[in-house]
Amino acid sequence: MIKAINGLHHVTSMASDAKENNAFFTNVLGLRRVKKTVNFDAPDVYHLYYGNELGDAGTVMTYFPFPHIAAGQAGTGEVGTTAFSVPTDSLAYWEKRLNNAAVHGIERSNLFGQERLDFSGPDGDGFALVETDGDERTPWTGNGVSEDVAIRGFHSASMRLRDEGASAELLKFMGYEVFDTSKGVSRFAMPNGNGADFIDLEILPNAQSARQGAGSVHHIAFAVEDREAQLAVRSALLDTGYEVTPVIDRDYFWAIYFRTPGGVLFEVATNEPGFVRDEDSASLGADLKLPTQHEHLRSELEKHLSPLS
Ligand code: ZN
Repeated sequence: MIKAINGLHHVTSMASDAKENNAFFTNVLGLRRVKKTVNFDAPDVYHLYYGNELGDAGTVMTYFPFPHIAAGQAGTGEVGTTAFSVPTDSLAYWEKRLNNAAVHGIERSNLFGQERLDFSGPDGDGFALVETDGDERTPWTGNGVSEDVAIRGFHSASMRLRDEGASAELLKFMGYEVFDTSKGVSRFAMPNGNGADFIDLEILPNAQSARQGAGSVHHIAFAVEDREAQLAVRSALLDTGYEVTPVIDRDYFWAIYFRTPGGVLFEVATNEPGFVRDEDSASLGADLKLPTQHEHLRSELEKHLSPLS
């Protein structure tokens, strides 16, 4: 069994409009944009990262805004809901704030004894805020959401699957423990994790397969401390029969990817070197940062990429 994974690292999704996406995560949810860069494989598309002050692992929601991309169609084989952790008794504040921002799909419920508020992102993305006792992570408060209510980081990601068998086994192999089952959802928890500790499996035997598009989660990444731990995880996955990519340098972390039996793309990413690698902490996310191989395209890209505000 793998012991080096300590929770979620980031969640990466697709959007249809960069400006709208940026406004939603910064102005409405109050997260900090910690990096403005471009897609490694399509440098004319932004890659935007939102998180806490330094974009610590377990707090970072990232987006590829592809202009004019078709809307995704929800279904199995994907991450359905990405949930953020907020303090106890903060949901009344959030319900009002989201309503004022004309956010769709707002719905209160309780799952595994925790109060939650589900809502949709600008492209119909599935999100929730979950009240969590004693989440010690320091939130970003620079965008007008005060510390007593601000988002701490991820709470969980929920995968929609036809059946849970192989995915449940994989999570256990990755170090997760069975937590509980309620309302058709099986929850797995990472012991001694980074705070972004839960994975939910939602079993929908008769649902159609998801079609990826705007509002769909592209992949979820799990955190390991450093490259050495990542190599150990990679060998363990290869030994178990998973097809894992070589280690890829993503500038702010190193990444490996593999497809899970339920169809969801998983990544394992390092906590090093982090987002302060090429910008100081005070101005994180302000300037357009380009991967070295795309630096020669800067003047063209600056003209082509739409302004975020
Ligand atoms: Zn990723």
